[in-house]
Amino acid sequence: MLSYRHSFHAGNFADVLKHIVLVEILEHMTKKEKPFDYIDTHSGAGLYHLKSTHATKLAEFNNGIGKLEAKKWPELARYFEIIGNVNRGDSLQYYPGSPLFATHFLRPKDRASLYEIHPSDFLLLQKNIGKKRQVRIQPEDGVKGLLSLLPPASRRAVVLMDPSYEIKSDYELIAKTIQSAVKKFATGTYAIWYPVVDRQRIKQLERSLVKSGIKDIQRFELGLSADTLGSGMTSSGMIVINPPWGLMKKMSDVLPKLVKTLGEDDGAFYKCDILVSE
Ligand code: SAM
Repeated sequence: MLSYRHSFHAGNFADVLKHIVLVEILEHMTKKEKPFDYIDTHSGAGLYHLKSTHATKLAEFNNGIGKLEAKKWPELARYFEIIGNVNRGDSLQYYPGSPLFATHFLRPKDRASLYEIHPSDFLLLQKNIGKKRQVRIQPEDGVKGLLSLLPPASRRAVVLMDPSYEIKSDYELIAKTIQSAVKKFATGTYAIWYPVVDRQRIKQLERSLVKSGIKDIQRFELGLSADTLGSGMTSSGMIVINPPWGLMKKMSDVLPKLVKTLGEDDGAFYKCDILVSE
């Protein structure tokens, strides 16, 4: 049984980056009338109480969403609007997970498939999302589930892969799964989250994606301090395959500001680059 619970980490700097990128992608998807599918392979519980014993244990949100004031980020209005929807007034009691950010964008013809394998988080996810005709919540392996759903009938999809990388082979599994997924459905937008605990693992993940022949890959990373070996996650990123138009420009504006606001020392940095061109 995996022990990772996202409730210990919700709202941290990694969530902030991941969800900003996710919101940008989904905003873009809803610009066209044609329906789309959202597939979340590692959904988590959907909503997190920041005053809970889990969240306050490490209080990671204090160095993430807790440091950002909506009024200073007009360019991220949609992201803050969704956070505002689960809170009262200006208070910050709750932080939404990726499924709640995503379901905010669903229109009647759009669909979402949410996978969560941890039994307790699966039940919480069901409760936090509620019964919605367009949303399927499954207590199953999202990596296998993803491949069974492709290509989607809508022929438009956003896939978020956000594993906890508790098992070291997850890095390789994610790289292989993405390659199989793109083979089945080349035009989907795939967003893959990664933590930098050991930079070599990320370099390997990048190399296998670059070598795979997949085109149009961008990467956005936020580092609170320079890479170290053995002192936990110092930075994290999102790799996006088939990114929407405008994402690179938006992140090039937002990331330097995030570094200034969240960076812990002079080693703080960001990466905003094209790993493979179109
Ligand atoms: N995506 C969520 C968000 O942004 O709010 C956070 C997800 S958390 C990093 C990873 C989650 O994946 C955990 O809740 C874990 O239980 C779940 N998980 C791990 N392996 C899984 C698998 N093979 N299939 C589905 N869920 C899995």
